[in-house]
Amino acid sequence: MIHIVGHKNPDTDSIVSAIVMADYFQKTGKQSKAFRTGKINRETKFILDKIKIKPPYLVENLAKKKVFLVDHNEKEQAGTGIERAEIFGILDHHKLGGMKTKEPIYIRIEPIGSTCTLIFKLFQEMNFQLSKNQAFLLLSGILSDTLKFTSPTTTKEDKKAAEILAKISQQNINILSQEMFRVRSNISGIKLEDLIFSDYKEYKEEDLIFGIGVHETLNPEVLLKKEKEIFSILQRFKKEKKLNLFFFALVDILKRKTYLFLTGEKEKEIAEKAFKKRAKRINPLLSPSLPLGKAKENLLLLPGVVSRKKQIVPPILKVL
Ligand code: MN
Ligand code: MN
Repeated sequence: MIHIVGHKNPDTDSIVSAIVMADYFQKTGKQSKAFRTGKINRETKFILDKIKIKPPYLVENLAKKKVFLVDHNEKEQAGTGIERAEIFGILDHHKLGGMKTKEPIYIRIEPIGSTCTLIFKLFQEMNFQLSKNQAFLLLSGILSDTLKFTSPTTTKEDKKAAEILAKISQQNINILSQEMFRVRSNISGIKLEDLIFSDYKEYKEEDLIFGIGVHETLNPEVLLKKEKEIFSILQRFKKEKKLNLFFFALVDILKRKTYLFLTGEKEKEIAEKAFKKRAKRINPLLSPSLPLGKAKENLLLLPGVVSRKKQIVPPILKVL
């Protein structure tokens, strides 16, 4: 049986694409089942609850299992035991991350807004009908990943797919996105460290390991007020996880900008080089939403930046 799994710290795209991909495999006569490698986030729970679908089962270890990876292809982002898993295939929309396999595999990666768009294309190519629920799941994956088409990762294909999916699922794209982003922005009762790691990814470049947590929100002010606490968590986990670099990106969905938290001197140096043109060191006097009189040395404001995979990771990799 094929285990279909998304990345660690799963987002909506990783969960719903695994669910609908399992349906696709079923139609092509392959035995498969969707799994998750971590806790689902609030937005995903909201989506699944809306159509009364249970989250995929948690798979603790992928070792010795036949796996099909959706929404990722880097070892560092895959579930535990990936080194000893049999990789059957990959369906993704991220950069190639250096995975090796022992046997030939299926692979499809396209530079588009979400894995769900790729699954939509698979169904179309095979002339398979999408049910109302499947269309709803794919639509939510597209809206979640593209921040309702505002992320620079968005392509014409994503928009086209979303329009068709909205029709099939009888959803209003604006209302659904608004609901999703509101749920995502509601952080009441979530511990700060859980928040930082709820959308966290690690990358390996040569011998360097760097981690980036992202939180996309409609109201960044809530977290900006907790800046000190955030930095102390970042510093603690950088040591614990033995990271060479650790960034945290707080993304303002509406104003389309990112506050990049720089954990130490190295991060500062690299980020300054990487974002030379974009970065504005935050001046508290110019930003009334921030508490006055604090040094903002370790916080960079990146106007127009909302995408980790397209706007944050590539410039950092270039500097490294
Ligand atoms: Mn993802
Ligand atoms: Mn994705």
